[in-house]
Amino acid sequence: MSHTLSFQHLAPEYIQRFQAYIPSNPDDELKKRFGCTHLFRLNNNENPLGPCPSAARVIRNFAPCRAAVYPSGDCWHLRRKLAERYNMEPDQFLFGNGANEVIAFVIKAFCRQGDNIITAEKTFAVYEWVAEFSGFEARMAPLKDHAFDDDAMIRCIDDRTKILFVCNPNNPTGTYWNDATLRSFLDRIDGRQIVVVDEAYCEFVEKPDFPDGMALISEYPNLVVFRTFSKMHALAGLRIGYLAGSREVVNIVRRTCVVYSVNALAQAAALAVLNDSGEHVQQTRDLVRRQKQVITEHLDSLGLTYLSGEGNFVMIRLPMSDSLAYRRLMMQGVMIRTMTGFRFPNWIRLTLAMPDAMDAFMAGLENILKFRNPGMQPL
Ligand SMILES: *Cc1c(COP(=O)(O)O)cnc(C)c1O
Repeated sequence: MSHTLSFQHLAPEYIQRFQAYIPSNPDDELKKRFGCTHLFRLNNNENPLGPCPSAARVIRNFAPCRAAVYPSGDCWHLRRKLAERYNMEPDQFLFGNGANEVIAFVIKAFCRQGDNIITAEKTFAVYEWVAEFSGFEARMAPLKDHAFDDDAMIRCIDDRTKILFVCNPNNPTGTYWNDATLRSFLDRIDGRQIVVVDEAYCEFVEKPDFPDGMALISEYPNLVVFRTFSKMHALAGLRIGYLAGSREVVNIVRRTCVVYSVNALAQAAALAVLNDSGEHVQQTRDLVRRQKQVITEHLDSLGLTYLSGEGNFVMIRLPMSDSLAYRRLMMQGVMIRTMTGFRFPNWIRLTLAMPDAMDAFMAGLENILKFRNPGMQPL
């Protein structure tokens, strides 16, 4: 007798209803499918300049025999380096396999059945996803003028709220809370919940009133700051990020993390980044600033609506569905991020990159706008 095996009933209900995230396919596969010879990936906010020269050297010279040996289980040297830089203690830092992993550390550490977390309706979705597939409620406060709304978030709080996640600057809208807004928010929370400030794009911000989360930890022991080496520092492929907080909070969160999740090559490259002069950061900022101007001038000339704030990306509203625009841009070798998943239907997010990639995007965009009536000539 044959019957189909089903294991659905073994999984909790919140897993049964959760949809797995589908990552993009590798370049060779996509080029075949869309019939393009070159592909510009402008969907993940990566740094097209690559890692700084000293980190590049460390990667090139990594001795193969080191691959056989477990890495430092707690990123010893990196934590000491950060402690020195920020005038904190090494045990105020906790590393993970990308900042994505530390999101899970914090939620696991503080939430139990029936608890909730609060974030914005239109922001980096991983906070919401991790909460939901772990069986906790994610409450989403609407944005106000495309920015995190402090009042709306506070109104969502109840006695089961454990963590509030603020993305600063916000991916994907590029808005940010200045020092005064962040401080007043922390004052109103007054230590009753954990406040996470995700600073994945802080290195791109040049505004003088942008707050340094790290400097606020000594005043606000419930504050947790996320940083990553994936964006400005161009180590996304090596997967390394960290959180910082008061000793009290980090000592709790540490119980939920698995040692050895950060590999040896990532640790060595990140250490080189922390010892770097900062010239590479300056070059990247120059590139992003210039390309932001080129792109927004072009969008103005096309009469398109866009959001361009802090970070190495812009959001653009299109007069067509974002998934159709995605397919048509892919046929021209340009990959962008569709924004329906971020609750911005008909918007796309574009990573600011090298001039050749920006030119390819602008040419592709003009093409799809010309032929935007689906009944017309396909591209
Ligand atoms: C990219 C990103 C992260 C995660 O980065 P990792 O590659 O996992 O370190 C976290 N938060 C935001 C807002 C991001 O855009």
